[in-house]
Amino acid sequence: MAYIQFLGAAGTVTGSKHLINSGTDSDGKNGFQVLIDCGMFQGLKEWRERNWQDLPAPAREIDAVVLTHAHLDHCGWIPRLVKGGFRGPIYATQATIDLCGIILTDSGHLQEEDARFYNKHKKSKHDPALPLYTLADAENSLQYFRAVPFEQLQQLSPQMSFRFVRAAHILGSSMVELALQANGQSRRLLFTGDIGRVCDEKASPGKALQGGPQEGEAADVLVMESTYGNRQHPTDDPRPRLAEVIRETVQRGGTVVVPAFAVERTQKFVFMLKQLMDSGQIPKIPVYCDSPMAIKAVEIFIKHSEEYSDQTRKLISQYGSPLTWPGFTFASTSEESKKINDSKYPSIIISSSGMVTGGRIQHHLAQRLPDPKNTVVFIGFQAPGTRGFIIKSGAPEVKIFGDMVPIRAQIAVFEQFSDHADTPELLKWLHTFTQKPGVTYLVHGEPSASAQLKDAIAKDLGWNVQVAHWMEKVQIG
Ligand SMILES: [Zn+2]
Repeated sequence: MAYIQFLGAAGTVTGSKHLINSGTDSDGKNGFQVLIDCGMFQGLKEWRERNWQDLPAPAREIDAVVLTHAHLDHCGWIPRLVKGGFRGPIYATQATIDLCGIILTDSGHLQEEDARFYNKHKKSKHDPALPLYTLADAENSLQYFRAVPFEQLQQLSPQMSFRFVRAAHILGSSMVELALQANGQSRRLLFTGDIGRVCDEKASPGKALQGGPQEGEAADVLVMESTYGNRQHPTDDPRPRLAEVIRETVQRGGTVVVPAFAVERTQKFVFMLKQLMDSGQIPKIPVYCDSPMAIKAVEIFIKHSEEYSDQTRKLISQYGSPLTWPGFTFASTSEESKKINDSKYPSIIISSSGMVTGGRIQHHLAQRLPDPKNTVVFIGFQAPGTRGFIIKSGAPEVKIFGDMVPIRAQIAVFEQFSDHADTPELLKWLHTFTQKPGVTYLVHGEPSASAQLKDAIAKDLGWNVQVAHWMEKVQIG
């Protein structure tokens, strides 16, 4: 029997990993095994601990990985898979590969740094605290990546092939259309990865990519994300309130701290700040982008302009590279980062990780959260259990590097920057399907979001929808 097994992003939004097994051959040989995405679990400890468990299929018996995009919850477990013995190809678009080149190495580096910190301060129950993988493991995994352009057919085995189509979620992001021959039947599977927003300046202001997710799809089995399965994004322009929040913070003599994913989200945000400054809506205060990959991230963002909307291209040609803007500093070394930490004057600090699960943002928040003059601005999704989620929900304190830090800074939340389609947009996209899938499995959602999207799809389209469970195996042929 051919099957899919949901090894992550089932019952939660992180750790995306879906194993396809083409089924046992007539001679008893195990089937061809492909992993769609290989993400890291983030957030609640019960999920994070699963990063340390082996997969049910030994890593060396997995034949290939097909990667939808470069977010850590989709690619962050790849170095661990390679460390465990995987030696097959990892297929991704060129932009995804470029992004993984900095994101995975940064992740390895951060894990080593965190383990060192815990060992030095003896704040881990594990003695010694170990990194999930190292910078060297991450670098080593990059040799297995193979670029596949959008819409080009790629054979995986005699029975299996796939094609990337646009997901319009982040730079390089794709959905995977997979064709499989099993038991004399041909089956068409569609894995959405994360689904981007429609391209509409009003509905999704500041969206950098051109177009929306690929329309007119058809599949026997659809595996679909449901992050915003119970939500509708606000459609108002976030800029006036953002400008007000920044002005008020500056008037108090405070600093604005923005946890943000270092690639694309940060670049989109700095272009918005530049526009607000040039139009006089906010004062020209220093802006710091503090990430070890800050400079390379800008270079990749500028390099892949083929994926952008006309408006984004116009912005880039008008303002040029953010690396050349006066007053904008991109910090790569830890010395540069420490200097930002010492700054006493009003400024804007943008740092990763976006959900405060690791990285330099932790140092900035540990220092700035106790002071009510400062403001923390959230511009991205915060998964339950992450420090970002705790701070955003109005908790009085949060644990950072083993210490409880009081939260007295102001908190401002903007949902408009989301790179995920909301429920009306997801339904709108499903309506473009040319045929009804035999079955749809919902993944990548909190249980309440997946359950509500299931009901909405059943009601709106009358489709057979199931919510996937962690480790569940479903037959596909
Ligand atoms: Zn994503």
